[in-house]
Amino acid sequence: MSTLRFHAIKESLNRKPLEIKEFKRRSEAFGANVFNQTSMRQYLTKSALNSITEAIEKGTKIDRVTADHISTGMKEWAVSKGATHYTHWFQPLTGSTAEKHDAFFETIGDGLSIEKFEGSQLVQQEPDASSFPNGGIRNTFEARGYTAWDPSSPAFVYGTTLCIPTVFVAYTGEALDYKTPLLRALQIVDNAAVAVCKYFDKNVKKVNASLGWEQEYFLIDSTLVASRPDIALTGRTLLGHSPAKGQQLDDHYFGTIPNRAMAYMRDLENECMLLGIPVKTRHNEVAPNQFELAPIFEEANLAVDHNSLLMDVMQKVAERHNFSVLLHEKPFAGVNGSGKHNNWSLGTDTGVNLLSPGKTPMSNLQFLTFFINTIKAVLKYEELLRASIASASNDHRLGANEAPPAIISIFIGEQLTKVLEELETVTKGKLSPKEKTDLKLNVVGKIPEILLDNTDRNRTSPFAFTGNKFEFRAVGSIANCANPMTVLNTIVAKQLIDFKVEVDKLIDGKGMKKDDAIFNVLREYIKTSKTILFEGNGYSEDWEKEAKKRGLSNNKTTPKALKVKISESTLELFENLGVMNKVESEARYEIEMEDYVMRIQIESRVIGDIARNHVVPTAVRYQNILIKNVTGLKTIYGDNFKEVAKEQLSLIEQISKHIEAINSLVTQMTEERKTCNTYIDIDKKADGYCNKVKPLFDKIRYNCDKLELLVDDELWPLTKYRELLFTK
Ligand code: ADP
Ligand code: MG
Repeated sequence: MSTLRFHAIKESLNRKPLEIKEFKRRSEAFGANVFNQTSMRQYLTKSALNSITEAIEKGTKIDRVTADHISTGMKEWAVSKGATHYTHWFQPLTGSTAEKHDAFFETIGDGLSIEKFEGSQLVQQEPDASSFPNGGIRNTFEARGYTAWDPSSPAFVYGTTLCIPTVFVAYTGEALDYKTPLLRALQIVDNAAVAVCKYFDKNVKKVNASLGWEQEYFLIDSTLVASRPDIALTGRTLLGHSPAKGQQLDDHYFGTIPNRAMAYMRDLENECMLLGIPVKTRHNEVAPNQFELAPIFEEANLAVDHNSLLMDVMQKVAERHNFSVLLHEKPFAGVNGSGKHNNWSLGTDTGVNLLSPGKTPMSNLQFLTFFINTIKAVLKYEELLRASIASASNDHRLGANEAPPAIISIFIGEQLTKVLEELETVTKGKLSPKEKTDLKLNVVGKIPEILLDNTDRNRTSPFAFTGNKFEFRAVGSIANCANPMTVLNTIVAKQLIDFKVEVDKLIDGKGMKKDDAIFNVLREYIKTSKTILFEGNGYSEDWEKEAKKRGLSNNKTTPKALKVKISESTLELFENLGVMNKVESEARYEIEMEDYVMRIQIESRVIGDIARNHVVPTAVRYQNILIKNVTGLKTIYGDNFKEVAKEQLSLIEQISKHIEAINSLVTQMTEERKTCNTYIDIDKKADGYCNKVKPLFDKIRYNCDKLELLVDDELWPLTKYRELLFTK
């Protein structure tokens, strides 16, 4: 083992789990660092509290005077929690979170100072926006960008900083972040769903989209990570031979959590409690050193903020434990990747989950309405949904023989398939009373309680109905959930709007009864939506062929998948609903394509560097040892040496072949990169990186991994897979 590797492994083996103090009761710690209802009641005047509550519930504006009251109360609370600074906390299009800290501290002359935080500082800030990606938005308009307070996501104290969730927009109002379009989409789906709910219950005034994410991640000792330039720079290994033992034995999934990892999780969960992130579940995942963390679901905007915050907190807590958190979708070849299932549903202010089959016939028709409309929306916009989760890192899962495939389909289970089949056969026009009763009763009878327990599932499906919610499983582990959530809620909103028009037409135009009209429209939807329903194995080749026949898209790479984002129909969809105008949509496309290019470019440089500067020199050193050995054998055995040194000679030759292959492939890759860099057009550039540069990674890796097997372990400089994955 090389000295570098030896020390890294020794260091990580010698680490002890940190002692973690538990709260007596988690419920008491929950939200302690959040400016929530409890702390607002304590620190705000009654009228300030009312106006903030109204802003949260109805989206009303908060006036200047009230903002001053709120900011003062918020500051007092934050200082009591040890905060010295405040920041507008936002999610620029980099995918991570951004913050710029300012002190509350202000001088007032005569050597005196006070703690101050004004309403205007709470409501709006102007961060130096020039270094955030903007996809040309700010070039065409104005350079300035503003952050503006989002009262619907509560402020929190993290460390010694009061963090205020904000949107980030250009001077002209165009969104420069992920949150703004999400908030708009949530508003649209609220309106559309409320309108449809009124068919069933006139009292419904608000519908919230909910999100419960499940975050998967790898936990690797930080010294081991530091010994791997590929992980350090790209978040994943670019080479490394698979270990003799991988996940074949499936002995990690739900197994005992190793002590150090357990200490990390408890520490992380404690932090989450204080920050009001309602984490609930933790367990080992399929791969060695892979874990999952899931919260209780929340309103989608808050859940997205919480996930973004969590990803940040995960890294910070990991530092204390000398761990690195790998959020990349595919850190290790040949080992399971990580995703972030997005569990999604719609719930009313009257407490009804619209995707819960429920117990009474009437609420079942409501369930069927939302269930079938979601299916139809996903069918119509499957390609857009696929695009919403496209990224260089997620390409390693989607379309690469890994869960789930790049083809979007929906799994609903046997029971609901039967229900739909039945519904499809109802009479066109007016339903007989018997039919109606039968149908409704059947629907109730056919959905067994067990389904609610999520036992009926197909792990290969990218979009599955799991009892009382849909689970979008194709989202990447490192992704910001805002992107897929914006698309999903927008397409469902659009579908619900169209549905209402159709139903009203039957009611008003044809004088049909409401229930008959709804059944009629739903029946037609079922007929046309079958193409998206698939219950079989999503990884099989047969499915690829079948999906093609059905006309479903299968965009395996990001550049291909993203194209639909700037198609006429997508641009119109977002523009007409007011979620994003053309400029905003096009900017996002550009940013995501740029991001793709940059990531592949960095990976290409890193793999080129490691292959040439680490692997080849090591192989040459080993080859020299062999040559010396052969020369020695020659002096002993004379002409007979070839017989005795057969193995060594063969090794020398194999090593030469791999070195030669690596050198020529790396040169070729560098040339391809240079060519791509001359392209101004982003589509051409991304296609070049995708189809010319990236395919060389595997070839280079193949030769490097072969050398790893040939070269003396003592010389090999890079920490090996078995050491990365099995050192505990
Ligand atoms: P797993 O997929 O790991 O087996 P589950 O299917 O039980 O786990 O999913 C759990 C996740 O689903 C949790 O994050 C939970 O909060 C979320 N969830 C449950 N109900 C809803 C809902 N109505 N809306 C959104 N998310 C929900
Ligand atoms: Mg799940």
